[in-house]
Amino acid sequence: MTFKELNIIPAILKALSNENYTKPTPIQEQAIPPVLAGRDLLGCAQTGTGKTAAFAVPIIQLLSQQQSGKPNHRHVRSLILTPTRELALQIIDSFQAYGKYTGLRCCAVFGGVSQISQERSLKQGADIVVATPGRLIDLMNQKLIDLQHVKIFVLDEADRMLDMGFIHDVKRIIAKIPKQKQTLFFSATMPPEISTMVKSILVNPVKVEI
Ligand code: AMP
Repeated sequence: MTFKELNIIPAILKALSNENYTKPTPIQEQAIPPVLAGRDLLGCAQTGTGKTAAFAVPIIQLLSQQQSGKPNHRHVRSLILTPTRELALQIIDSFQAYGKYTGLRCCAVFGGVSQISQERSLKQGADIVVATPGRLIDLMNQKLIDLQHVKIFVLDEADRMLDMGFIHDVKRIIAKIPKQKQTLFFSATMPPEISTMVKSILVNPVKVEI
C-alpha cells in the first residue's frame, strides 16, 4: 500500500516524500480512508505508531479541498486537543511539514509561555489550531479564539487528559464546538469516564486498534 493508493493529493504526497515516508504505517492505512470519507474515528494507538500523520494527513487534505475563508479572513476549521506542550509542539511540526505545499495555516496554543505570540498568530488567521486545554480556555474566555467554524475535532490521548485532571476543561471546550462536526478520538486505554465520553460524542465511529 502506498500513500498514493490512499488517494492522497499530490501537494501532500510531495511533502511526505520530503519526510522520507515511503509507505503508510498500519494505523495510517486503517485510519486515512475513513477520515477522508468524513467518518468519526475511535483510535486505540500509542505514540510512535505514526498516529499523528494518521489524523494530520487526512485533515490537511479535507481542509485544502474545502472552501476556506478569504486569505485574510480564515476560520479555525480544525481543532486538535492534546494534553501536553511537548505533544502540541510535535503535532504542529507534523501539520507544518505535511501541509507545507497546501497554503493552510496552523497555530499552536499552549501554556507556560507568553500568550502574545499565540494571540498574534491567531489574529493573522489559522485553519488548524493545536492546543492544550488550559491555555485554550484562557483564550476562549478572552474571546481571542472562535471555535464556531470547527468542522474536524481531534481529541488526542484522552486517557492522559483524564489522568492529568483536564477532563472538565475538555468538556467545556467541546461544549463550544458545533455539534455537527467530524470527531477523531484517540485513547490508549478506555476507562469508564472516557468510554462514556466516546458514546456521547462519536457518531457511528470506525474503530482502529494497533
Ligand atoms: P507518531 O506516532 O505520530 O508520534 O510518529 C512516530 C514517528 O514515526 C515520527 O517520528 C514520525 O515522523 C514517523 N512516521 C510517521 N509516519 C511515518 C511513515 N509513514 N513512514 C515513516 N515514518 C513515519
